[in-house]
Amino acid sequence: MALIVGNWKMHGLKASLAEVAAVARAVATAELADVWIAPPFTLVAAAVDAAGGAVPIGGQDCHHAAKGAHTGCVSAEQLADAGARFVIVGHSERRADQRESDADVRAKAEAARAAGLQVIVCVGETEAERDAGQAQAVVAGQLAGSLPDAADGLIVAYEPVWAIGTGRTPTPEDVAAMHAHVRAALVDRFGAAGAGVAILYGGSVKPDNAALLLGVPEVGGALVGGASLTAASLLAIVKAA
Ligand code: PGA
Repeated sequence: MALIVGNWKMHGLKASLAEVAAVARAVATAELADVWIAPPFTLVAAAVDAAGGAVPIGGQDCHHAAKGAHTGCVSAEQLADAGARFVIVGHSERRADQRESDADVRAKAEAARAAGLQVIVCVGETEAERDAGQAQAVVAGQLAGSLPDAADGLIVAYEPVWAIGTGRTPTPEDVAAMHAHVRAALVDRFGAAGAGVAILYGGSVKPDNAALLLGVPEVGGALVGGASLTAASLLAIVKAA
């Protein structure tokens, strides 16, 4: 079954919890694809309550340390304590804005696993890297440097940076080629366990292109930004899956 993960980024106030509740109601009453939501930290605990167990709630990032003098940061254990079940690490916006390296992302992924969270590790090339014919090499390098030591609880999200928030998407053929490449890297790294790791596609997934993108071989689901902010649009993607 496909997995649809909504990443709210820096959107959402308490009023947005009604969207979580609406998604949870829909999931509880119909046979739908799995849907998870990553609200901002401020809403994680309340979203866990609003979801009532029907929709796993997660964080959009965590610190690599278990605790300490890190003003403004949130640990994986704190997320788990708030009721989170997963965390996204290595999103391209954090790799760019917070200058997170592959080693940083890998340390966060290990912290998440240590806290018992499932972890979504994001990778993806920029437009310049794709134009230079480097997309697969860049993604291979990110995987080599960012993945944790073991495959249990691991999910990979392939998100071409140029497709995020732009309304542009790769062709199904390009998505198929990259997901096959990611799968091969996972099997190379983890053996049989790598064959079971879900690989999500992310970048301008909308209700009207979800069925096409989710129908591509090795696409196990979607990581959705803008279109995850309302229950109506997120559920339209879930229903297309
Ligand atoms: P988008 O974002 O769906 O708004 O393109 C995807 C993401 O950054 O995860």
